[in-house]
Amino acid sequence: MTPHRAYIGLGSNLDNPRARVIQALAALNRLPLTSLAKASQLYLSRPVGPQDQPDFINAVAALHTRLSPLALLDQLQALEQQHRRRRARHWGPRTLDLDLLLFDTQQLALPRLCVPHPHIQQRGFVLLPLQEIAPGLLIGQRPLHAWLAALPPEAIPQALPLDTHLDSGGEFR
Ligand code: AMP
Repeated sequence: MTPHRAYIGLGSNLDNPRARVIQALAALNRLPLTSLAKASQLYLSRPVGPQDQPDFINAVAALHTRLSPLALLDQLQALEQQHRRRRARHWGPRTLDLDLLLFDTQQLALPRLCVPHPHIQQRGFVLLPLQEIAPGLLIGQRPLHAWLAALPPEAIPQALPLDTHLDSGGEFR
């Protein structure tokens, strides 16, 4: 069986978010039956919702996995818990947020899991890193760049300087 291809959105804006996102990328590579195929650069974005909180560090990862979508979600939620994510406030600050963005071309509407993730199209901090590592992807029949072009400038995140966790081709080391 060929492995599934899953895309994960990572975000953090508390307690050294840059290091946290880099650690989380490495942790994704250690998940059972899973390897990290590609990771984007890190991006800096303004928070969605309440603005009285720090900016976010975001990235997107492509995984090869033999886990089912729900088993992968379980693993992502366990990782979030390890980072003692605080859920006190909706859209508030968080130590680590992991979203399952896409799982092959599957469409799921389960109580715990919607795939494709429902907000991809409106979120520059997902679309831009996704375009970096998978430029040909279609989201809902429309190319990524078309969704990006429709966003207001303030929704486009800032790419941070090339980081040491990636080689020049975007492959994870
Ligand atoms: P949030 O705190 O906004 O990241 O939402 C977390 C909740 O969304 C959890 O209860 C998940 O079960 C649910 N959820 C539904 N679809 C997804 C998805 N594609 N990725 C991550 N969480 C999801």
